[in-house]
Amino acid sequence: MSQHDLAIVGGILGSATGSAPADLAISGERIAEIVAPGTPLDAARTIDATGRHVLPGAIDVHSHHREPGFTHKEDITSAMRAAAAGGVTTSFAMPNVQPPPNTVERLDEMIALYEAKSIIDWNINAAGTVPEEIPGLATRGIAALKVFMVVDTGRDYPHMPGIGVHDHGKLLEIFETIRPTGLPLMVHPHDQGLMAHIEAGFWARGERDALAYAKAYAAYDGLIWDTAVAVLLRLQKATGTPLHLLHTQSIGVIEQLRSAKAAGQHVTAELNPWALMLGNDWPTIERLGSYALSYYVPEKNTEPLWAALTDGTIDLISTDHAPHTREEKEPGWTDGWKAHTGTPSTQFYVPLFLDAAVRGRISLERVIDLVATAPARAFGLRDKGRLDVGCDADIALVDLDAELEIRDDIVLSKIGWTPYAGRRVHGVVETTLVRGRVVYENGSVVGEPGWGRQAKPATD
Ligand SMILES: [Zn+2]
Repeated sequence: MSQHDLAIVGGILGSATGSAPADLAISGERIAEIVAPGTPLDAARTIDATGRHVLPGAIDVHSHHREPGFTHKEDITSAMRAAAAGGVTTSFAMPNVQPPPNTVERLDEMIALYEAKSIIDWNINAAGTVPEEIPGLATRGIAALKVFMVVDTGRDYPHMPGIGVHDHGKLLEIFETIRPTGLPLMVHPHDQGLMAHIEAGFWARGERDALAYAKAYAAYDGLIWDTAVAVLLRLQKATGTPLHLLHTQSIGVIEQLRSAKAAGQHVTAELNPWALMLGNDWPTIERLGSYALSYYVPEKNTEPLWAALTDGTIDLISTDHAPHTREEKEPGWTDGWKAHTGTPSTQFYVPLFLDAAVRGRISLERVIDLVATAPARAFGLRDKGRLDVGCDADIALVDLDAELEIRDDIVLSKIGWTPYAGRRVHGVVETTLVRGRVVYENGSVVGEPGWGRQAKPATD
């Protein structure tokens, strides 16, 4: 019998601090040995990674898998298949599903679904909208709670009941209640009062299509984002509750993050791929309409966002993978407010950012940190996000020289389209392993539903 189950040899081992040739061996679910290239390793199977980079699998802490409730557009298995093909080894679900996981009973039901259906590791960002449920939710191995800072109108998707809180007193109560759990609170910043006035102006002028919608959310240099973040950072300071800011996109938010971090506040922030790869390009928004919208991020934000990614002001990249059917996007050509907001990205964001590294926009090490190491650190996944002896063998084997042509017909997400179609990027994910088991190779998802496990934060 061999000493190890699997060896990966001949490749370049990537990390957030540097990359170097090394061979590694996996025993069971973990990395057992890392040795100099060519050192004999006794393993049952060997993968030749010559010319390839061996990277820690991506950890996406913000993804919309749509189950339960909206499985016509995605489900747990389809989302995780797409993720596996994109080099993602852990994906956290957002709570805007039906029913939303805002009570212990509902969360437990959702956990059971993931245990049966996921092929990669996972967790669920429970909705922290019901203060009396928060202590119980925190006992279920979750890594964060999430609040969508919108007025709970009781209407259907995307603002369904149970996930939104805008009242500042209620938000303060939620921050206070989460504090003793030690968990971070993720917030989608928003100000519906300002938005209602801005929207009314567009509508009064007869501007209602996707382009008007795009401009409304970006009005006054990101006014709705900046003002909401100011409130959230002040609530964080008041309570000490760790805050994770979603959807970083404005210069105003970058500046607030810099001063909050300089003052020692416990805040992390994410960037979503659409902010630098899609929604920051007006010709693309004109061409694709609602299909390009998560949000419009005016071009003048592009350089400051890259700078914030590079210098650590923005801590990590997560997808905000938000699949919607063509039928749900089509109404945007005449009414941008009727189209569902959000864009899919779980399958292609790692190649898109690897391509940015190949082109010299950002270092490969920084990309590895942003997509894998930093998310693990921020959410307490001690044995994930890096390839060290003893860590989970969550690995993406990538060819940075090969080109990937992004096309609708290779999309594994149920919706069958991607706003990135037509792009050619350097960085082909060849093989993905989750805890030592191959879940994707040679263009096929081979992982089985049920292999994925809840990625729980360390508690000691
Ligand atoms: Zn989202």
